[in-house]
Amino acid sequence: MADDTLTAGLHLLTDLYLGGKAVPAADGARFPVIDPATGEVIASVADGGISDAIAAVDAAERAAASWAATSPRSRAEILRTAFELTVERASELARLISLENGKSRGDALAEVAYAAEFFRWYSEEAVRGTGMVTTAPGGTNRILVQHRPVGICVLVTPWNFPAAMATRKIGPALAAGCTMILKPASDTPLTALAIAQILEAAGVPEGVVGVLPSRRSGPVVSAMLHDPRVRKLSFTGSTEVGRALLREAADQVVNTSMELGGNAPFLVFADADLDAAIDGAMVAKMRNAGEACTAANRFYVESPIAGEFGRRLAKRMAELRVGPPAAEDTEVGPLVNRDAVDKVDDLVRGAVAEGATVLTGGGRPAGAGFYYEPTVLADVRPGAAILTEEIFGPVAPIVTFDGEEEAIRLANSTEYGLAAYVYTGDLARGLRVSERIESGMVAINRGLVSDPAAPFGGVKQSGLGREGGHEGLLDYMEEQYVAVQW
Ligand code: NAD
Repeated sequence: MADDTLTAGLHLLTDLYLGGKAVPAADGARFPVIDPATGEVIASVADGGISDAIAAVDAAERAAASWAATSPRSRAEILRTAFELTVERASELARLISLENGKSRGDALAEVAYAAEFFRWYSEEAVRGTGMVTTAPGGTNRILVQHRPVGICVLVTPWNFPAAMATRKIGPALAAGCTMILKPASDTPLTALAIAQILEAAGVPEGVVGVLPSRRSGPVVSAMLHDPRVRKLSFTGSTEVGRALLREAADQVVNTSMELGGNAPFLVFADADLDAAIDGAMVAKMRNAGEACTAANRFYVESPIAGEFGRRLAKRMAELRVGPPAAEDTEVGPLVNRDAVDKVDDLVRGAVAEGATVLTGGGRPAGAGFYYEPTVLADVRPGAAILTEEIFGPVAPIVTFDGEEEAIRLANSTEYGLAAYVYTGDLARGLRVSERIESGMVAINRGLVSDPAAPFGGVKQSGLGREGGHEGLLDYMEEQYVAVQW
């Protein structure tokens, strides 16, 4: 089924994409995709089941040997073309992202640029395979180590960056010479299907990338993880689902990469440049309306400046234009669905009931759609649920601290360890604090950490493995050691 009315120019795919073809689910099932700005259905998408998942693995298997045998240069050139086509189609892709995810046009365009960069970066990395030859300590033989594609990959992605979370996995997997099946989030399958079309146009052979939208995620992913041909699972999503998938992957000892939830602290020391800290806070909190795993979730501000920081942040948050994602001047769109708004609202109400002060926002605006007001809360009780859970919405809770030791203790008081932000005028302090923060990524005097050229990932219960950088390529490769005598 194709519907050209939703996006100008982009031929909309709403079936499964298997073996290079659009096909309906074997049992004919479909599910609706909802526009979060209106709550209305925008498309009906094929709902892949277990037999479709096995067919997807069949297609990936048929393509595996020849794809692994292509030269790194030809894989690089296909990825480069995918980068160029993504940039060329940025406007239509951004429109699709806003439609099904609800993010503002500005955020959607930024996401497409970020997503495209993974194709460019991995087109450059594809020809930088590394290995090693050395002499065994006893001098009897050589030790040869080379990297080989890990094999058929299952890629599972969330709804919050429907394009970038897909390309962050597809880019390195293609560069490494793997074939793959992408299972996108059921809130946002249309963007993933559009990316499949771009990859096809870029020259990716049939069967190398399959896209399997499904509302039956549990059984479908489980079936693939129990198929012995599947050798890799790369998952981005919540820690809760990640834990369950690690257990499933254990049955066949499938290689796993896990990009899970976050609870980023944003520390502001009294010696920080306050203008820069407020600018950084706006980016760290409000990129994607707070629906980012790296979003600043807890603001810890040193006592002497806490009052001024709160007032200034509240003023900036109150000035944001909330509205329909497609409108040119909208800065904050709706959240992804009703459950997301209910969760944010519950967390805010809970914090207020425990004594937090609302500096701005604090509720849902009137009217249709899944909107929430940009909100700043001060005097939040340490230990409140809003500080321990991922908010995933436009709410900034502020807690005060005194001194470095307390800041570090508060920052580390979570089972998560994905991103952290530190604002200080003293670089030595910034680096000293970074070394003691239990987090895979730290931004010093900067509100944005994500960069396709850098290893992105978490420690503690935020995940395993890294995406982006050279490390991201190695996540799709396995080392083989050959002992050789010549
Ligand atoms: P989610 O865990 O609910 O879903 C993620 C994906 O897993 C979706 O495709 C979903 O359909 C699928 N899924 C759900 N249940 C499953 C099951 N039982 N078996 C197999 N697959 C299943 O997460 P979400 O709500 O889509 O995304 C938000 C979460 O993702 C947040 O926790 C956020 O922090 C995290 N996230 C992490 C990163 C990162 O890089 N660390 C990036 C973006 C989002």
